Amino acid sequence: MNDTFKHQGLRLQLVSTLKSKGITNAGVLNAITKIPRHLFMDSSFLDHAYQDKAFPIAADQTISQPYTVAFQSELLQVKRGDKVLEIGTGSGYQTAVLCELGAKVYSIERQQELFKKTSKFLPKLGYRPKKLIFGDGYKGMVEEAPFASIIVTAGAPFVPKPLLAQLAIGGRLVIPVGDKVQTMTLFVRTGPKAFEKTELGEFRFVPLLENKN
Ligand code: SAH
Repeated sequence: MNDTFKHQGLRLQLVSTLKSKGITNAGVLNAITKIPRHLFMDSSFLDHAYQDKAFPIAADQTISQPYTVAFQSELLQVKRGDKVLEIGTGSGYQTAVLCELGAKVYSIERQQELFKKTSKFLPKLGYRPKKLIFGDGYKGMVEEAPFASIIVTAGAPFVPKPLLAQLAIGGRLVIPVGDKVQTMTLFVRTGPKAFEKTELGEFRFVPLLENKN
């Protein structure tokens, strides 16, 4: 678990890249400055950890591109103490960003291997999400609802109804929707049955799996 001055310097460069791409939220930039992303990746990719790119992790999944993590995190508008649900724990990097933002984090992962690995790993770095579960993100986590915000970190072919239903009034769902290419989509719950939808450009994610494993 080695985090050197070199790594810290590379992170500052990454943060200035993210600023130049339009990320402004101080909490998000601070989280990316602090979190040792290289420790979330397999050793063969360590040299690439601070490039603004997605990389493979276990189980054919990827750690999202830092810009994507920053963009989605900014859209959530997390306030300290907010209950936030993440779909797709993966490496746990996005989970760590949410912890740094002061959220109470609940996260669901569909791949057993990643679930086990990341559940052990995050506490070693001092990150303690409220709940990590091995389960199906399409269903959300109804027993913990409502959430101030929900972030989906895999490409969803459609918007799962349970996720909209588990938002608090005023809550925000950030979800990439589409098959090969996804449109980043923000839903704000403005009333019990009312949602405001905004589309925010194209991204590429691994697919949100249905009925698998
Ligand atoms: N947030 C992660 C991104 C991982 S990629 C990170 O920062 O590393 C997307 C993740 O979603 C993968 O780990 C994948 O296994 C998971 N996933 C795919 N389908 C899912 C589902 N139905 N429910 C929960 N997680 C799912």
